[in-house]
Amino acid sequence: MNCEICEQIKNKKGVLYQDKNITAMLAPKPTAAGHVYIVPKKHVTILEQIPDKIIGEMFAKANKISMACFESLGVQGTNLLIQNGLPAGQHHNHCILHVIPRRENDGLNLAWQPKQINEEEMSTAEIKIKENTSQVGVFEKEKQKPIKIKEPEEIKDKEKEEDYRLKERIP
Ligand SMILES: [Zn+2]
Repeated sequence: MNCEICEQIKNKKGVLYQDKNITAMLAPKPTAAGHVYIVPKKHVTILEQIPDKIIGEMFAKANKISMACFESLGVQGTNLLIQNGLPAGQHHNHCILHVIPRRENDGLNLAWQPKQINEEEMSTAEIKIKENTSQVGVFEKEKQKPIKIKEPEEIKDKEKEEDYRLKERIP
């Protein structure tokens, strides 16, 4: 598989921190000196493929790296950003939580103007999203080692299904 991030995890280039699940590395294509990628060590393309526990670890690590940037680089702010899917600007096929050090007038434009959305569109969005929030309060338990050994056909079908589901969003 051709993944620049997995490659960098392997050769440890610019790696600032590493543990069982997470690697923090200097961005190979930074917006500023000290731009850091927090990534799951296992190759995962988009956020929803990452277990809750590891998402939690990623954000905890991002906060600590952000604190390190404040301390060491004297930056005035940080942006924590995930470009989740192609339309969101995702370039790598490995999910990345960016920690971007910010200074006043640094020329990086992440600001947006609020749009005028009519009430009907707003309430439609509210209803539609609410219909799909049953899992929001659920924290996935860590998966135990599988007891049942899956038949090869069963695994293949499941993979096919996931491929289809994710195909359109994956860069
Ligand atoms: Zn990768």
